[in-house]
Amino acid sequence: MEESRFVTSDYHFKDWRLDVTDEYIPELDVNAFKISVWKEEPVVINVAGYGVTGEKLREFQGIEAKGDFLVCFKRMDNAEQEALIRKLKPAWPSNKAKRMASEFKQKLYAAISNYENDYHDVLLVPWKYPLPDNIEEARQTLLQLKEKLPLKENEKAFILTISRPNEFTSIKDPAALNQMLTYGWADENTGVKQSNCGVLPICLGDINSYRRYTKVLLEQMVASDKKHETCPICGSTMNKGQGNNSNLNQCWSCGFQIIDTQCSNCGKEFTFTRYAPPKVSVMQSDLPGFKTIFHENELGYKNITEAYIVNGQINPICPCCGR
Ligand SMILES: [Zn+2]
Ligand SMILES: [Zn+2]
Repeated sequence: MEESRFVTSDYHFKDWRLDVTDEYIPELDVNAFKISVWKEEPVVINVAGYGVTGEKLREFQGIEAKGDFLVCFKRMDNAEQEALIRKLKPAWPSNKAKRMASEFKQKLYAAISNYENDYHDVLLVPWKYPLPDNIEEARQTLLQLKEKLPLKENEKAFILTISRPNEFTSIKDPAALNQMLTYGWADENTGVKQSNCGVLPICLGDINSYRRYTKVLLEQMVASDKKHETCPICGSTMNKGQGNNSNLNQCWSCGFQIIDTQCSNCGKEFTFTRYAPPKVSVMQSDLPGFKTIFHENELGYKNITEAYIVNGQINPICPCCGR
């Protein structure tokens, strides 16, 4: 599977686009997949005189011709740029074609390389074995996995495991169990430190698996829309607060709020979300593994930091210092 791409998909919701590609991790012999999320702000390139027409672009996805302009809704990789040049070249005067090709390439390169900055890449790494039901072995396993992941190249990485915190019978330590389900956000209450590598229980029999994916995406959707212009939940236009509330953006259709703030403890800026928490029946179990799952559930999978519900209101925990 090393060279083949078994997933190549392009999704979009409002102005957001999402691209899924596979990524082989040789150190683990695992086929992972990478999700890139970005807010669509098309790159418009003046291509007057190069004969760019809708007809010629028909086989290319995510690019359009508008008058003298080429409008790119996605990043064209080098192979696509070359393919586009090969498509256009036959119509160029033969004595100028070589120079035009190089100038055209430069135009694309300049525009598209500026466009690179807004991609938010998340690597999802399916780990096919259950995590050991032993605190030290589980810790070592996660540590070894993390060391082999390309964490620098991605905003975040998630180890996807079939083990759920409530299924461990030998591990009783709440902090250890909270490490088995973490989105990488710090929380002093649970002993989880900030990390760009999370651990998510994902399996077919667990309906929450899907909701965990959506939460991973929500975090990147908010991060890729710095002005918080569009509601990531329902797609409506967000409304910016006035005066002292200018850090607050609210959706008047669904009530979702995105708030930029600064931690009073560590001074780092972060963004959190506030909304009406879902009605969930209170979990009776005292088992720490169940509490981890319950806490995730009661926040309705719309939080992008750790948070606690106090008198029906969602209060964030700083994802950096956990306070
Ligand atoms: Zn909304
Ligand atoms: Zn902090």
